[in-house]
Amino acid sequence: MLLKCSKRCTLTRPNLQWRASSQPQPWCLAFLFHLIWCRVIHRRLADEDDELSEVQPDAVPPEVREWLASTFTRQLATAKRKSDEKPKFRSVAHAIRAGIFVDRIYRRVTSTALMQFPQDVVRVLKTLDEWSFDVFALHEASAGAPVKYLGYELLNRYGMIHKFKVPPTILENFLSRIEEGYCKFHNPYHNNLHAADVAQTVHYMLCQTGLMNWLSDLEIFATLVAAVVHDYEHTGTTNNFHVMSGSETALLYNDRAVLENHHISAAFRLMRDEECNILQNLSRDEFREFRTLVIDMVLATDMSFHFQQLKNMRSLLSLAEPTIDKSKATSLVLHCCDISHPAKRWDLHHRWTMSLLDEFFLQGDKERDLGLPFSPLCDRNNTLVAESQIGFIEFIVEPSMGVCADMLECILGPLHSSAKNSTSTAGSEPINEENAGSEPSNKFKIRKPWIACLSDNKKIWKEQAAKDAEARAKQDEEESADPQPVTEE
Ligand code: AMP
Ligand code: ZN
Repeated sequence: MLLKCSKRCTLTRPNLQWRASSQPQPWCLAFLFHLIWCRVIHRRLADEDDELSEVQPDAVPPEVREWLASTFTRQLATAKRKSDEKPKFRSVAHAIRAGIFVDRIYRRVTSTALMQFPQDVVRVLKTLDEWSFDVFALHEASAGAPVKYLGYELLNRYGMIHKFKVPPTILENFLSRIEEGYCKFHNPYHNNLHAADVAQTVHYMLCQTGLMNWLSDLEIFATLVAAVVHDYEHTGTTNNFHVMSGSETALLYNDRAVLENHHISAAFRLMRDEECNILQNLSRDEFREFRTLVIDMVLATDMSFHFQQLKNMRSLLSLAEPTIDKSKATSLVLHCCDISHPAKRWDLHHRWTMSLLDEFFLQGDKERDLGLPFSPLCDRNNTLVAESQIGFIEFIVEPSMGVCADMLECILGPLHSSAKNSTSTAGSEPINEENAGSEPSNKFKIRKPWIACLSDNKKIWKEQAAKDAEARAKQDEEESADPQPVTEE
């Protein structure tokens, strides 16, 4: 008798045989495990498929759909493509503080001159709290060292240097080495600017929504450090490329979250160097908690967990009294900040997009040289840029920002109401309220500057897509009117 897994899976060996007359063999057990495992995995993939099915087949070109599936789920990550296929509040004090956090955002304790900041850097950092902060301007003002100054400024502003007794020179060394790691492969996109950009966006989420008041100092410290190191020593190639090309890193991490595992491991390895050990004055318990948080957050930046992460948070938020885990919340925030550039001002978003495409095309060149199939968006001669950006905004960034905002309002709502009750007698200003239209006025709402940017950017890409389609149609017409002569070999 031949038993076969009903799923045409390649997860384990499906061709196990079992003869009814024979004694139970260890591989019978293995086969049973296989069936159970398959159910779990296929259920999970089916969930992701449900999410992806929201992407209507005719809403985006097939190439874009394929890219969304292969990048933001685990469905096609390593599948071979045939060449012809189209491709709780801690205390009342916390709550009260929430009522005044707008004016008294930072817990910077020291005004002692620590590291010297060039005047131009100080000027650019005045806009650090803005949603569309210009990290490119900081890069220029800092002579190519945005991570060093921005990282230092943030850790000082939140009082982390003081609270966790981080020796200033050690912090400077650590940030400089992190910055160097980001520059190692000269990536057009995954470089020190991206690290600084994500860290600044996380800062916006912490301070402008009030999230910092829900988190402990250690959680804030871990969140900021996770943002700074989240793509450390990025190779400028995707996880899929590592897997398909059988890189050393893929070998080391068994094809799972290859880059993310490397970013975390290399960053913690760097912190073992005494000269860079910013954690040297943490207690053993603090260190363990910090490490767990950073690992969770950075692993959650693996895009193949995107749909699962959103789905889990949505179902949690649909409960009558959701309890949101700190690590899940900060992970979602970091993930959203990581993909937030389409939600920034057009000039910034456009620049990021061009840089990312440059990086993808360089990967495509490597794939061609290695005889590997092109990864989606990596073929410089066949990539629908505007369409892919519309797809990325509509199906990835907008839903992510939506869930993240719902989560923040759910977490911060009760904090806001207790702060309001405590501060109404003290006469403090209400916090951060921008109640939109028909929402009940007592429902806490955060500011969402990304909504307008997403809509503006999408409109521009749509105009661009229409122009591109017109140009392609014209070219097709010209080619069919003037066919190329067939040359005999
Ligand atoms: P990370 O690689 O950790 O920075 O995660 C960001 C990922 O989001 C990138 O690697 C891309 O897969 C995706 N992404 C970000 N911006 C864009 C964009 N403009 N178009 C397409 N994909 C994007
Ligand atoms: Zn990133």
